[in-house]
Amino acid sequence: MTNADVFARNAAHEIRLYARQPLALARGSGCSVWDANGKRYLDFFAGVAVNSLGHCHPAVVEAIRRQAGELLHVSNHYHTAIEGELAELLCRHSFAERVFLCNSGTEAIEAAMKLARRWGAEMGGGRYEILATHGSFHGRTFGALSATGQEKYHRGYFPLLPGVRLAPFDDLDAMEAAVAPETIAIMVEPIQGEGGVVVPKPGYLRGLRALAERRDLLLIFDEIQTGMGRTGKLFAYEHEDVAPDIMALAKALGGGVPIGALCTTDRIAAAFTPGAHGTTFGGNPLACAAAVAALATIAEPAFLAHATAMGTRLRDGLERRVARHPHLQQVRGLGLMQGLLLDGPGGAIVARCLEAGLLINCTADRVLRMTPPLIVTADEVDEALEIVDGALAAA
Ligand SMILES: *Cc1c(COP(=O)(O)O)cnc(C)c1O
Repeated sequence: MTNADVFARNAAHEIRLYARQPLALARGSGCSVWDANGKRYLDFFAGVAVNSLGHCHPAVVEAIRRQAGELLHVSNHYHTAIEGELAELLCRHSFAERVFLCNSGTEAIEAAMKLARRWGAEMGGGRYEILATHGSFHGRTFGALSATGQEKYHRGYFPLLPGVRLAPFDDLDAMEAAVAPETIAIMVEPIQGEGGVVVPKPGYLRGLRALAERRDLLLIFDEIQTGMGRTGKLFAYEHEDVAPDIMALAKALGGGVPIGALCTTDRIAAAFTPGAHGTTFGGNPLACAAAVAALATIAEPAFLAHATAMGTRLRDGLERRVARHPHLQQVRGLGLMQGLLLDGPGGAIVARCLEAGLLINCTADRVLRMTPPLIVTADEVDEALEIVDGALAAA
């Protein structure tokens, strides 16, 4: 099948929910993918920051192969060793003491919001309200959607979940002012991803932590995009030396396989008792095996040091271009999560990069977002920067 064959069949049968690029991907290895016509692309989008180990990383592929021959699925009525191995690894490498496994980012957020509510109902004097932020993105199910501070995702879905309110991002005073007698939790992304790679001022997460202490609130970090080494630390909260009470993970957690996780402390987890929440596929052995392999690889200090070095190289390269190109306004991001703010819409530049063999995306209309695999090499970073140059020159 050629690209055209794939487009035609997909267009005939899919519900048109995605504004897709004219590209049918057939295979991938490392930071490269190939389309159905055999053309190679350098992948600096990495499946929206999912393929942090690149495509078909041997450790992940091998773990999946092995697990596939042993056990694919059992119900949560029973234990498996592999889910415990993943939960133990997550706890060893984070603030967490307890983990709930699910299947996606939005499910991890739903679980976080439900846990906060349940905690509020049972230990928080009946408080129930969750504060999130303008410009945020937390997912598409109703709870996560209600906490997503972007109108374009809400259109046609009212009424949303009550008891969720939005406050400005990166504004501690506004957040403090927003706290009401019924508020139980504050939920933020350490860096807003879909909102346009918005990095808060230094001290913001620490300030939220202090606010949560002062007002007896739970602090929820959505590390679905920033987690798993994306910013150069395993979790972005480590940059500020604070820990949340609850953390949501997904995206890169499974090395390319769908999985989500809610991480929390013993104290907070006590609000979830048997039957209070659950999901059929949660802790699925195949997904857990992939995640164990991915997490064990990413958590290596040398691996994270490499991601940090490559993040610096990408960042420096982008900064130099901002100094030269009048249409580039700002580089923002951390580690290998970088955004290039343009003075106008970025769709045409994304299309030119695609033609030239580079996958990136444009988010929040005018932010070119680059989230390459963390295994990216210096040569690949330089190659991507050159393609971006060409696309900018042509624009
Ligand atoms: C992608 C994302 C989500 C939603 O994850 P899904 O797996 O698409 O449901 C939530 N929060 C953030 C920060 C994300 O980047």
